[in-house]
Amino acid sequence: SLISFLLHCVPVTLTILYISHGTYWAETLFAFMLPTVGIAIQQLIQQHNNRFIQDLLRKLQEEKDTLSDLSMMDPLTGLYNRRGFQSRIENLPSNSGSSHFLLLIDIDHFKAYNDHYGHMMGDQALARVSAAIRDAVRSRDIVGRYGGEEFVIVLPETDGPSALQVAESLRREVETLLVCVGDEGQEVAVTVSIGVATFNGHPDYQVLLRRADAALYQAKHQGRNCVVVV
Ligand code: GH3
Ligand code: MG
Ligand code: MG
Repeated sequence: SLISFLLHCVPVTLTILYISHGTYWAETLFAFMLPTVGIAIQQLIQQHNNRFIQDLLRKLQEEKDTLSDLSMMDPLTGLYNRRGFQSRIENLPSNSGSSHFLLLIDIDHFKAYNDHYGHMMGDQALARVSAAIRDAVRSRDIVGRYGGEEFVIVLPETDGPSALQVAESLRREVETLLVCVGDEGQEVAVTVSIGVATFNGHPDYQVLLRRADAALYQAKHQGRNCVVVV
C-alpha cells in the first residue's frame, strides 16, 4: 500500500539528500515522487472498483430477495401460496402459553360456478373472496391460498371466541359479496364453508390442517355456507 511504500522510501530518500548535501535533490525527488503517484492512482482505482462491486452485490441481493418473495406469493390473489404459507408458519415464534387457530376455507360449488360463468369470472370471484379474507384478519395473522378455491388462515395467540368471530364474520362478509359475472352488470353471490381447528401450545400444523379439513368436510355435509369448529 501507499503507507508502507512511504515508510520504506522516506528514510532512504532523506538519507540520500543528507549525504549528497542536496546536490541531486531534483533527481532524488523525481525518483521518489514517480512511484508514489503511481501507487496513489492505483489505490484510487482499486477503491472505485471495490465500491462498484459492493453496489453490484447489494443490487443482486435485492433482486434475489424480490424473486424469493415472488415465489412465495400467489399472483391471482396476492396471498401466500402453499410454499410461502409453510415458510411463514415454520418461522412463527413458539409461545406455549397461548392457543392458535387454523381456519380452512373452501368456496362452495365452485366447479358449477366456473361451468356456469366461465373460468375468467371464476378467477374474479377468487380475487374478491381473497380480498374479503385479507380484510377480515389482523396483520399478524397468516393467510394463504392453499389450493384452487381453498384458503387457509392461521390466527396465532387467539382465544376461541375471537377465532369463531373471525370465521363467522368472514362467512357473512363473503355471503353478502356480489361478484359481477357478465357484461350486463349481472351479479351473483358466492358462499364459503369453514373448518376451524384449535391447538394449545406450539402447534403441529400438519395435524392442525387435517383436523380443520375434517371440520370443513362436516361443514360441507351440514349444507355448506357454515362454520364448524373441532
Ligand atoms: P364443494 O362445495 O364441495 O367445495 O364443491 P366445489 O365444486 O367447490 O369443489 P370441487 O373440488 O369439485 O371443485 C373445485 C373447483 O374449483 C374446480 C375448479 O374448476 C375450480 N378452480 C380451482 N382453481 C381455480 C382457479 O384458479 N380459477 C378458477 N376459475 N377456478 C378454479
Ligand atoms: Mg375444494
Ligand atoms: Mg369448493
